[in-house]
Amino acid sequence: MPEILPAIFLGHGNPMNALQDNRYTTGWRQIGKRLPRPKAILSISAHWYVPATGVTISTSPRTIHDFGGFPQELYQVQYPAPGDPDLARRVREILKPLDVRLDDTWGLDHGTWSVLKHVYPHADVPVVQLSIDETQPASFHFEVGKRLASLRGEGILIVGSGNLVHNLHAYAWGRLMPDPYDWAILFEQQAKEIMRAGEYKLLIDYESLGPEAMLSVPTPDHYLPMLYVVATTQAAEAISFPIEGVDGGSISMLAVQVG
Ligand code: ZN
Repeated sequence: MPEILPAIFLGHGNPMNALQDNRYTTGWRQIGKRLPRPKAILSISAHWYVPATGVTISTSPRTIHDFGGFPQELYQVQYPAPGDPDLARRVREILKPLDVRLDDTWGLDHGTWSVLKHVYPHADVPVVQLSIDETQPASFHFEVGKRLASLRGEGILIVGSGNLVHNLHAYAWGRLMPDPYDWAILFEQQAKEIMRAGEYKLLIDYESLGPEAMLSVPTPDHYLPMLYVVATTQAAEAISFPIEGVDGGSISMLAVQVG
């Protein structure tokens, strides 16, 4: 019987993590060593948030430095993982009749490479990115994730990259160890309990979870990749949180593993 790979959501946080060695990057490296080696990765990054569903079709996706105001060395990082056009076409097939565009303009944005640089430092696992259609509600993204679940039985590692709590307005840039905001802690705890209970409908309807949710998820882009991952849960599968922590007071670095 073919092995069913876990699916994993990674909180990526500050792009500088790509160059750093800290408890989050250590956790990402351990995940890469611990998981069975995938044939390819399907990455759903918060930073490809556009008005369509697309998949990268390139055989050598470019490294996109989609941020501003960081040190020059971050712009020099390359993550030369190959693409996987067969996987891109397979995703389009699985999601029919949804119109999934085969995209040759995007590549790997920092939501993908800043974490994969640690998970698979040799960039030797092919990577395809799937965009998040910003015009669609959370329920749509959950459904897409559900339909992608079968890929886990085909040697594909589904990776969501975002942050469960992501409030840049409250983020303490440059401060060393600020305490997490109460609302960030409360929402993260609530979300973890909901995940453990498998009551995903509450996560889809996160806007009705109260003021902590509104402060933690002021925009959906960094939250939705988590929904894609938990949507792949099969019956009786365990949910675990291999990495925990809140960076800068308002960015949850929580990792969520399914299976
Ligand atoms: Zn981000």
